[in-house]
Amino acid sequence: MKIGFIGLGHMGGPMARNLLKRGHTLKVFDMVPDAVKKLTDLGAEHATSAGKCAEGVDAVISMLPSSPHVRSVYTGGVLDSATAGTLLIDSSTIDPHTARDVAFDAKAKGFHMIDAPVSGGTGGAEAGTLTFMVGGELADFEKAKSILECMGKNIVHCGGAGNGQVAKICNNMMLAIEMIATAEGMSLAAKLGMDAKVFASIANTSSGRCWSSDTYNPYPGVLENAPASRGYTGGFGVDLMLKDLTLVTEAAKAAKHPVMLGAAAQQLYQMHSGNGNGGLDFSSIIKLYKKD
Ligand code: NAD
Repeated sequence: MKIGFIGLGHMGGPMARNLLKRGHTLKVFDMVPDAVKKLTDLGAEHATSAGKCAEGVDAVISMLPSSPHVRSVYTGGVLDSATAGTLLIDSSTIDPHTARDVAFDAKAKGFHMIDAPVSGGTGGAEAGTLTFMVGGELADFEKAKSILECMGKNIVHCGGAGNGQVAKICNNMMLAIEMIATAEGMSLAAKLGMDAKVFASIANTSSGRCWSSDTYNPYPGVLENAPASRGYTGGFGVDLMLKDLTLVTEAAKAAKHPVMLGAAAQQLYQMHSGNGNGGLDFSSIIKLYKKD
């Protein structure tokens, strides 16, 4: 297929490379020339604007920082330039409201649009093992599947427009809460005199077990391969988690739905980021409890 790819950053760059590797023809656009060059060196065609990137292609994929970028790229370019019927796939993490608005505008102009945010981070983007959470019509999901499979392993239809974003931000809210709970329990057990590894082994075979305790433990030295054991480098950044928590608490506010723990998590990550930890892995939230 001929695919237009807009947004070639940490995630979009490797995702676009995987599409090229699987034999698709790419037209690419980003405002950063270096990001574009990495793809044109591999054979992609350079488009000079988002609108031009959407001209004459079978599908458009975007991987942009946030909601305003997505709105402006689609309503100020792609929707005016693409041929009606083109499949539009936005993989950025944005608020469900904006995703639904843009999909509505796209549909009104005769396009098929899905939101397809991802989990799996830059490692998953490089390896082509991302999970795609897809919102939109089932027929559009089916059409997009063969493209998404070039970049991911787990492609899930979550329901109508915006539901991919709903799945993404609600899952990450649960993860943040669970990570803070694990950090609190781990640091308290150690403070009260327990060996952290022994306590983790008990929690992991008891009712305290969760992904944050058994796969991504925030206490240094408990899991050799976790970011906690390499100074919280790599992994999923505090500022990315803060972004998702802010999206989810705003969505909850608009829906008048209580998220007491989600809101507390958002505030704790905001404070942690404000303390200069925005670039660390999100499990570093344990630093709020454990100072040494
Ligand atoms: P990034 O900042 O590295 O990349 C975004 C790219 O979009 C940049 O290259 C930027 O120049 C480009 N861009 C911005 N405005 C543009 C415009 N108007 N037209 C064309 N290009 C434009 O961000 P990222 O880490 O690649 O994340 C992209 C999205 O994926 C975000 O929504 C993020 O929340 C989500 N996400 C990131 C990760 C991760 O681990 N980095 C994991 C899951 C989801």
